[in-house]
Amino acid sequence: MTPFLIVLSAPSGGGKTMIAKALVAAREDLEYSVSATTRAPRQGEVDGVDYHFLSRAAFAKRRDAGEFLEWAEYGGDLYGTLEVDVDRAIGQHKHVILDIEVQGARQVRERRKDVVSIFILPPSAETLVRRLGGRDISLNEDALRRRLRRAVDELEEAADYDYVVVNEDRTQVVAEVAAIIDSESKRTYRDTTLQESLDNLRRDIAQLADKMVPN
Ligand code: 5GP
Repeated sequence: MTPFLIVLSAPSGGGKTMIAKALVAAREDLEYSVSATTRAPRQGEVDGVDYHFLSRAAFAKRRDAGEFLEWAEYGGDLYGTLEVDVDRAIGQHKHVILDIEVQGARQVRERRKDVVSIFILPPSAETLVRRLGGRDISLNEDALRRRLRRAVDELEEAADYDYVVVNEDRTQVVAEVAAIIDSESKRTYRDTTLQESLDNLRRDIAQLADKMVPN
């Protein structure tokens, strides 16, 4: 089976990082794409696990050398996916899950054919506000307003994705994204050994048919 890229996007507070990490923890066939960023680590974040934390100069150097599959500016910081990371995982026959915002997602869809894109929607405006406020109690009204305005813009892009999934609750949303990955894995054009399996099965059936004793 040919592995593919899974792009997950959602407005801030939409739960995409939780979904991506839950899936990677539960499945052997998936790898999380660790992005590069110029933003400072949050408490508990580990370099090389959550992000590759780079200085702006180091990021710019790698960007100018063409090392990013995609990159974008978000909230005043730079974020990007290193192509070498994605290709390494694909080389190990794993699907790669990219937790990225909408501008980056557009670039990935333009540059690669092997992409399944999924947009995670909040069930309602009120739930999004509650989840954003709950995650970061230090968010003041201004910061919250900025993220909500950005969510309005990001949602404009949701219809360009292959799938939309509503994040009602953790178990349901993880199961629905897993079901999409499973269905996509079964697409005939991704199965490199399909023709051989079909040929063998047809041959075996034909042999059994030949052995049938006529009435
Ligand atoms: P945060 O700073 O909250 O971890 O991430 C901010 C936003 O940047 C999120 O929407 C996240 O999905 C997005 N993001 C994280 N990594 C990348 C990346 O490599 N490329 C792009 N385009 N966006 C990213």
